[in-house]
Amino acid sequence: MAGSGVFEGIKEGEVFKYYTDGEWKNSTSGKSVAIINPTTRTTQYKVQACTQEEVNKVIESSKIAQKQWAKTPLWKRAELLHKAAAILKEHKAPIAECLVKEIAKPAKDSVTEVVRSGDLISYCAEEGVRILGEGKFLVSDSFPGNERTKYCLTSKIPLGVVLAIPPFNYPVNLAVSKIGPALIAGNSLVLKPPTQGAVACLHMVHCFHLAGFPKGLISCVTGKGSEIGDFLTMHPGVNCISFTGGDTGIAISKKAGMVPLQMELGGKDACIVLEDADLDLAAANIIKGGFSYSGQRCTAVKVVLVMESVADTLVEKVNAKLAKLKVGPPEEDCDITPVVSESSANFIEGLAKDAKTKGATFCQEYKREGNLIWPVLLDHVRPDMRIAWEEPFGPIIPVIRINSVEEGIHHCNASNFGLQGCVFTKDINKAILISDAMETGTVQINSAPARGPDHFPFQGLKDSGIGSQGITNSINMMTKVKSTVINLPTPSYTMG
Ligand code: NAP
Repeated sequence: MAGSGVFEGIKEGEVFKYYTDGEWKNSTSGKSVAIINPTTRTTQYKVQACTQEEVNKVIESSKIAQKQWAKTPLWKRAELLHKAAAILKEHKAPIAECLVKEIAKPAKDSVTEVVRSGDLISYCAEEGVRILGEGKFLVSDSFPGNERTKYCLTSKIPLGVVLAIPPFNYPVNLAVSKIGPALIAGNSLVLKPPTQGAVACLHMVHCFHLAGFPKGLISCVTGKGSEIGDFLTMHPGVNCISFTGGDTGIAISKKAGMVPLQMELGGKDACIVLEDADLDLAAANIIKGGFSYSGQRCTAVKVVLVMESVADTLVEKVNAKLAKLKVGPPEEDCDITPVVSESSANFIEGLAKDAKTKGATFCQEYKREGNLIWPVLLDHVRPDMRIAWEEPFGPIIPVIRINSVEEGIHHCNASNFGLQGCVFTKDINKAILISDAMETGTVQINSAPARGPDHFPFQGLKDSGIGSQGITNSINMMTKVKSTVINLPTPSYTMG
């Protein structure tokens, strides 16, 4: 039960508290934000609506805690992270329950998200010890005109206060993908969780509390992004922003000050299927890649570009698999569960209606009950339909039939997004040439797009993001290089 047992202190009455200075507190606003269960469409939880004054205090104590933390030996930081990871995994069940209730994630996937997050934190600790434990040593006489009179020592130092804003679809995993690298690198961290997913995040933060991290080092402020988001992202006390979400990220990058930004934004991941592809493999990956968590993944397959000559066979195979997907509540571990909100369901429905009006072939009848949308494959989609370009973030996949590889690549590259893409072919040389031609951060050959494993570099081009993530890249991004130069007297050639 969320908020019970070891998590007792994080809630008072009906409302979950926010976390600052090592304590769980109620906001002075006296206001709360409701979290709507996507399945029942009733209020499931409530969190504090933090005020700007509270944000100021959180950032102030975060700043103070960071100074001390930066001096804490790396191995000690790693030790605490390992401890938090173990506590998180130990409490996977109540945290997963929050994910089921808040974001309608299927029960098993919810547990997987928490366990994966624990593994991510531990990997950050190990990787951080390795990459932050070494620096560079340079000598001056390798640059023209210089004698060997300067020795330069470089090391990586923390940035200060890192602001982490994850999205609803992987609230725990995408929060720790920021928290782990920030903390091991000697930063403090302020988390603004997504409203849907906030209670799972508060439970996760409590695991860091139980691990014994110093007061103020990690904080969690709750409230609607539309209300406290700008105040947080434009706050002069924030030294780095790591954001994952949709177009909001583009707006933040225009408003934020001169601080390093890590932006993981939307995608329209294309799946190109060639004539020589293993069509069973492609169909299985379109189902897994397109419909896992009801398509609410940045790396979901969001458009299939298939060669006309094999399109009928592929569509038939995908439809056969699609018919086996179980549709229903997340508690029953169904494959397709209600999408996160009514407005999200309405948006998906709008894309479906637009495609219908413009003549797309619905391979299944469109069906919706509340936020639950039955999975649907749309064949014969054309570029004049919105679904050809927009990210539905739901269980609906458009199929565009192409007559050449170039046509597929052209469609992929004409998108504003450039997150991932995938290609199915048995010809590895062709696959590599297509990968080179696709303007996306990653191309998967013979598998669906995917973020993990979490230590792989992960990045989007164009409107899909700024910077590169993955554990090693995130640790590096959350540090700055510091040089110390030792100046020696002019060498005496008579010496030695
Ligand atoms: P979203 O609406 O952009 O929200 C993301 C986060 O931003 C939430 O925590 C939200 O808080 C907060 N927020 C809202 N307004 C804000 C503001 N003015 N300033 C600061 N923060 C603000 O995205 P979403 O619907 O949660 O997630 C879906 C999107 O995320 C999709 O586009 C998906 O592709 C993308 N995504 C990308 C990746 C990737 O790695 N590239 C991974 C996962 C998801 P509230 O919830 O309180 O509004």
